[in-house]
Amino acid sequence: MAVFRFAPSPNGRLHLGHAYSALLNQRLASAGGGRLLLRIEDIDRERCRPEFETGIHEDLAWLGIAFDGVPRRQSEHLAEYAAVLDRLRGMGLVYPAFLSRAEVARFVGDRESAGKPWRRDPDGSPHFPPVDRERPSADATARLSAGEPHALRLDMRKAMEAAGPLDWRESGGGARQLVPAEPGAWGDVVLAGRETATSYHLSVVVDDALQEVTDVVRGRDLFAATSVHRLLQKLLGLPAPRYLHHRLILDETGRKLAKSSGDTGLGELRAAGVAPDEIRARVGLGA
Ligand code: GLU
Repeated sequence: MAVFRFAPSPNGRLHLGHAYSALLNQRLASAGGGRLLLRIEDIDRERCRPEFETGIHEDLAWLGIAFDGVPRRQSEHLAEYAAVLDRLRGMGLVYPAFLSRAEVARFVGDRESAGKPWRRDPDGSPHFPPVDRERPSADATARLSAGEPHALRLDMRKAMEAAGPLDWRESGGGARQLVPAEPGAWGDVVLAGRETATSYHLSVVVDDALQEVTDVVRGRDLFAATSVHRLLQKLLGLPAPRYLHHRLILDETGRKLAKSSGDTGLGELRAAGVAPDEIRARVGLGA
């Protein structure tokens, strides 16, 4: 049976873009007699708030979207992500990264001001410098035992060598196709942050597998991240779902909607007397 999921992060209120994603998932799940799951992606304890989570449930209920089973809250499963991370560590693919954000900025700034371009990832952030990856292990061990704050990063080159070439099944934009994965575009991604026992990439891959998701339907802004997800799935021996990256709902200036966008917030629209049917029509999923 097909299993779809909607996986919002409670770091703001839902807007029309989320409504489109949730309604599209609902439509595709019900068309094929599949299940639709809800996952609350709340690993970022600094940005996620209980009132936003309550708002998510209210907005989705108001839109008339019912989910199967109990919602999975990522914050309740940190030990599971840590166990998976240990497996990657055991494969020699993970290293502790001590450089702070400011140190990374300085490293990249120095290169760039010397006229040497430094690679950016698909989100525009500079690739993580090789300093920690190449750090002598005695130095890393000493820092770890001194309790120095660190993230855990994937050694992308080694991971890609271990996994070999990968692709994914994509049906966004109408046509079905196989998309070659290019995880190297991201550099050494974070698997666990300084403050968090996991990362978006790791937890999304673990959860899609644990929840037996067959169809990942989400915004086009996550298209490039799928390369990392395929890589982790391969390394961990997890099944590869089908993917559909849908168009984004943009504001009048052509920009992606932000969580704070007042006039496209579902709570605001509801308070202004807009009906769920109008929301469906507005995102192009009217009856
Ligand atoms: N939690 C992510 C977001 O709100 C979505 C993750 C996903 O669908 O894979 O943008």
